[in-house]
Amino acid sequence: MNLDGYDMVLIGIGEEFEEAPDALEAYNKLSKDLEGKNYFIVSLCMDDVIYKSNLNQDRIVTPLGGRRKKQCPDACENALYDLDVEKCPICGKELIYNNILAENYIEQGYLPMWEKHKLWLTGTLNKSLYIMELGVSMRLPQVVRWPFERVAMLNNKAFFLRVNGKLPQINAELKEKGKGIGENSVKWLIEN
Ligand SMILES: [Zn+2]
Repeated sequence: MNLDGYDMVLIGIGEEFEEAPDALEAYNKLSKDLEGKNYFIVSLCMDDVIYKSNLNQDRIVTPLGGRRKKQCPDACENALYDLDVEKCPICGKELIYNNILAENYIEQGYLPMWEKHKLWLTGTLNKSLYIMELGVSMRLPQVVRWPFERVAMLNNKAFFLRVNGKLPQINAELKEKGKGIGENSVKWLIEN
């Protein structure tokens, strides 16, 4: 990919990466492509593979959570625990992973990074911004698809790229400054 002329890069990552055996290779390729760039990644994946890659962990937010922390199913005191803790010290229930599948999902697991992401986004106004949406389905469009489109519309210097094996279409409003590629995003990333 060619990011020449763009200092800031906003990346959204979706389900295609959770289904791919070569996701780690793709993340590391992305990390190389992003060398010297000011970037932020919002990922819907819950498999935590991205945290094993060379990408900067301080530049990644995973709002759906994953398996890096545990919580009580009753969300006692909104507390998060390391993986070696088995039972809730407050009510004694077996702890579960801190992700959106939890009945009472404790959002504190990702909110500090989300705040950082929001602050980063305000700094993109009037900057040349490359927005890349990779393999994101319509499952939770309010997390990546819709807000990313909005950021693209509001920024006159933005370019919007959507790579998706099934849903590569882009809105008419973004036709002037956007492009959709109908390929699997993991494969595309490795090859381009
Ligand atoms: Zn508890």
